[in-house]
Amino acid sequence: MFKAIFLEKAESNDFTAAVKSLDEALLDEHAGDGDVDVAVEYSTINYKDGLAIANRSPVVRKWPMVAGIDGAGTVTASRNAAFQPGDRVVLNGYGAGETQWGCLSQKARLKGSQLLKLPEGISTRQAAAIGTAGYTAMLCVMMLERHGLARDGGEILVTGAAGGVGSVAISLLAANGYKVVASTGRASEAAYLEELGATEVIDRATLSEPGRPLQKERWAGVVDTVGSATLANACAQTRYRGVVAACGLAQGMDFKATVAPFILRGVVLAGVDSVMCPMEDRVVAWDRLGRELDASRLELISREVGLDEAIGVANDILAGQVRGRTIVDVNR
Ligand code: NDP
Repeated sequence: MFKAIFLEKAESNDFTAAVKSLDEALLDEHAGDGDVDVAVEYSTINYKDGLAIANRSPVVRKWPMVAGIDGAGTVTASRNAAFQPGDRVVLNGYGAGETQWGCLSQKARLKGSQLLKLPEGISTRQAAAIGTAGYTAMLCVMMLERHGLARDGGEILVTGAAGGVGSVAISLLAANGYKVVASTGRASEAAYLEELGATEVIDRATLSEPGRPLQKERWAGVVDTVGSATLANACAQTRYRGVVAACGLAQGMDFKATVAPFILRGVVLAGVDSVMCPMEDRVVAWDRLGRELDASRLELISREVGLDEAIGVANDILAGQVRGRTIVDVNR
């Protein structure tokens, strides 16, 4: 038997999310064509896990489901030549917790083609602390660089700053010498954001209402995790040939903007997806996370809970009440 956060939907549409003890035989039945068995040590609660566990949007597309889009642990058995028992691995996305059983679980049967061997310097606990949110933050940094972000002292705006993606993005950008401005709705987190490396903290209300198509140029680059009017305003405030990496929708999925910033200032709006991101980019992202994300910063960003507490955290993250990242120790 193993414990997992189990999501069920009855024919009546009644939804339940609960920690359950499951028979290992269920993995044969439900874990599809996974070819690597993993003893999960740590998982995490991302925004998308919140949506799935609270049944707030159609994240889960197969029932019943084991939640958890991220997991880190040790291989116990493998029918894939690339993995051996004892390998330390991490899984991010690829439909885990959505279309295939995920990692808020003590055991997972996963596809080797979707697993990444952890770089030496990253423990399974740190891998969960980083999780999809942290690895997406690195993908955003890589996207800004790919589009020629200059380290000329121009300011980089990070929205949703006190959240998971935002906290890691600030740490990474500051470690790379960029001047980071953090946008948050939680003034009480200003000291935390400055400790991560933000040089200025602004109130997210200054960005959240619809604004003019072109505004005073300020940002050399943007990491946007909230979408909606905030993303439109961020584009309208981006400097000539600046780059905006858009990865999130915490404010909303809508995007009512004009083409003015793109055709008059040459602003680049670059989308970032972590779920189906090709393995070669993941390898680069995780390698860089191992080298560029300071371990003490990561500790500051994260807190740890057990599997039983994770369902509560899922609701808190949707309410915007979680700071940074939450590690889930699936064995406590
Ligand atoms: P978190 O909940 O940890 O952070 C989101 C932050 O957004 C909150 O902490 C809050 O920051 C801010 N926020 C919340 N509600 C609003 C609002 N109504 N208006 C403006 N800001 C708001 O989530 P994550 O960091 O894990 O994820 C951030 C977003 O990125 C989510 O939408 C998620 O779905 C998306 N995402 C996308 C990925 C991809 O592959 N494209 C991968 C990972 C995440 P503050 O309190 O500082 O204002």
